[in-house]
Amino acid sequence: MAEINRAIKGTNDILPSESHEWQFVEQKMLETASLYGFKEIRVPVFEHTEVFLRSVGDTTDVVQKEMYTFDDKGGRSITLRPELTAGVIRSAIEKGLVNGALPVKVCYIGGCYRYEKPQAGRLREFHQFGVECIGAAEPNADAEVIALARQLLDSIGVKKIALEINSIGCLECRKEYHKALKEYFSQNTDKLCGTCNERLDRNPMRILDCKSPICSEIAAKAPVVLDYLCDDCREHFEKVKGYLKAQNIEFTVNPHIVRGLDYYTRTVFEFVSGDIGAQSTVCGGGRYDGLVSQMGGPTVASLGFGMGIERLMLVLKNQGAELPEAPKTDLYIVPMGEKALLKATELCALLRREGYKVQTDICARGIKAQMKYADKIGAKFTVVLGDNEIETGKARLKDMAEGTEREIKVDELLDELGEAIREQIFKSIAEIM
Ligand code: ATP
Ligand code: MG
Repeated sequence: MAEINRAIKGTNDILPSESHEWQFVEQKMLETASLYGFKEIRVPVFEHTEVFLRSVGDTTDVVQKEMYTFDDKGGRSITLRPELTAGVIRSAIEKGLVNGALPVKVCYIGGCYRYEKPQAGRLREFHQFGVECIGAAEPNADAEVIALARQLLDSIGVKKIALEINSIGCLECRKEYHKALKEYFSQNTDKLCGTCNERLDRNPMRILDCKSPICSEIAAKAPVVLDYLCDDCREHFEKVKGYLKAQNIEFTVNPHIVRGLDYYTRTVFEFVSGDIGAQSTVCGGGRYDGLVSQMGGPTVASLGFGMGIERLMLVLKNQGAELPEAPKTDLYIVPMGEKALLKATELCALLRREGYKVQTDICARGIKAQMKYADKIGAKFTVVLGDNEIETGKARLKDMAEGTEREIKVDELLDELGEAIREQIFKSIAEIM
């Protein structure tokens, strides 16, 4: 196939047959976020490369291997966002949100770009929903952000998904931990991959997140960060657990979670599904107390999460979750002849302004072809308008599912359609009960 007919590897089209499912999920995301006080923020798809180097971290897989970076025509180094936190924090500092009332609570939905090996649940363009809570250090903030994710997953019909939490401590307690890791991994330098050997000195924690099977095997037996927490971090983590329990949110502590981005501190968490294969993390997040100041803003403790929407859709599909059906056309008007077409045009305009989904022929097709089309698009009702109907002012409204017809007055189509739709709804309710 020629390139002009082929999407870029690792990208996905969301087709009209499925876009209503995305709309439903995205609506729930914004609604749930709003229950917790989070307002939507929209930031650019690209930023100065430096924004991601500073935040995500230059020893991470994302920065070392996955970024789409290019020079624009002005010679600036630009990167397509691999995640949204960095851009959101850049905006919060630049636009002064961090100098206003704290905490700043924002959420986002948007595309992310990573040059990865495409496979199930791993794309080069994917979408994330996420929240950022800027300026909240207390452990109940962590529990609140986790609760938001949990409530969202429940509300869109995810039946089963496990929450795993960990604490990776602050910069202070991490010094001891880094020492222990260096000591441990130094005994395995001959087996570690090249990238991890480089990481050993600068950022040994990154080795714990390496996807190479040999590195993962070695990392599995490495010292765990929970054993190295300072008193403050330990107490913070205990309190987070307490606030989760107070809301009946189930979790397990997984001391091996470190997350793939450098900015995390203290609490980290993931929602993991057993129903979507190897790429099982649907949502990942945590605290990033040092990030805002690291990016040139004030010292304010913050936290957030990112949720992969494609992986989430995969969970819903694989768990057989019930998603809403695509909205159907209420009425298809079948005009025969020029006079009828004018009347149909007038009626469509009226009905659409009243909020009905109405279509009519825009292809100059015959009655048979029009009925076939109306059936294909799942129109609830059809009405044929010909010279006879225009003259007498009477027509027949057909219920497409039942095959029944009723006589109606053309000029009262608005009320007649409303009544017919109400009857249909009552009938389907009666059938359910
Ligand atoms: P993974 O370990 O699977 O590579 P990650 O740690 O790189 O994930 P984050 O950067 O924390 O992921 O992103 C948050 C979420 O975004 C992930 O939990 C996942 O649901 C989704 N995600 C990340 N990378 C991809 C991708 N390439 N394709 C689809 N979804 C992705
Ligand atoms: Mg990754």
